[in-house]
Amino acid sequence: MSQEATQTILWTPPREKPPVLPVTDQNITDYWNLFVNRRAYTRQSDRPSPKTHKFYYYPPRDRRTQERVPLDRDAVRRHLAGWQTIGLYAIQPETQLCKWIAIDADYDHAHHDLKGLKDELREDGVEALEESSRRGEHLWILCAEPLPARESKIYIYNLALRIGVPIRRNGESEGIEVFPRQEELAPGKFGNQMRGPLGVHRATLRRYWFYDAAPSLDEQLALLKSVKKLTAEQLHRFTDGMTLPEEFARPQIEPVAYTPNGREFRILDYVTITEKESSDYRARCPSCGPERDPKARHLAVSIAEPWKYRCWIGCTKEMIRAAVGRPIRERT
Ligand SMILES: [Zn+2]
Repeated sequence: MSQEATQTILWTPPREKPPVLPVTDQNITDYWNLFVNRRAYTRQSDRPSPKTHKFYYYPPRDRRTQERVPLDRDAVRRHLAGWQTIGLYAIQPETQLCKWIAIDADYDHAHHDLKGLKDELREDGVEALEESSRRGEHLWILCAEPLPARESKIYIYNLALRIGVPIRRNGESEGIEVFPRQEELAPGKFGNQMRGPLGVHRATLRRYWFYDAAPSLDEQLALLKSVKKLTAEQLHRFTDGMTLPEEFARPQIEPVAYTPNGREFRILDYVTITEKESSDYRARCPSCGPERDPKARHLAVSIAEPWKYRCWIGCTKEMIRAAVGRPIRERT
């Protein structure tokens, strides 16, 4: 057992044991070749957040140095066995390439929409595999060689719009989510992660298999290895002359400059803007932090009056100021 697994601080009621399977070295090698595109990864928490009751994904860190721990074969082994669950990032930042494209759908008509996408992909000669998930389904496309994130996203977005499948925006409306979510990663960024296939979801302690093979690691990996892979030539041909649909092309967001009197507290000095939404910028609420605000959009900062800000789930100004290390001084 690793150090992380012994890091229990709070007592929690005993939970059911996950279904554990034997894992071969070949299973790990196959999985690595198919899905691991970069060494950074996340791990799903074994316990729900006491506040939201969700099972968040967090980056494992070395306890002493606080550096992120890179993915290794043992972490993949434990994921496939069922002892832990990892999340994988789509984009390799040095090349901006992806080994896979995953489509996540967890709304009412998810199954119908993914079926439509799968059929439309097949028309293009692209095989996609469906995997059940806790609330909906995932559709995976595997690449013959790492392919550009930008083209992958442009292809799926245009294909979805062509057949009327909604794409989720700003984490709000219903629709599919496509991984890679970014066209490219800025230096030091990770993009969005996806639960690694064939793992056990920590909330349900269930393993979600691909539909088209028997429920065993050997059978599932054999399916994944044999499925027809998307090639660079295909993707390039499908996206020739295409751009990201305009409504999804994200504007580059630079905060407006303002220097009221030089001494005033400026919240925009302490947060990174993730979105622009009507008259506000959105950013991660410093008081909520990554655990409670994983999509980094709880904090709204007025664009016109950037000294006005609020957390949508209710952190007070005092909490936010304290969280960035600039507590509000009490007036005496
Ligand atoms: Zn907050």
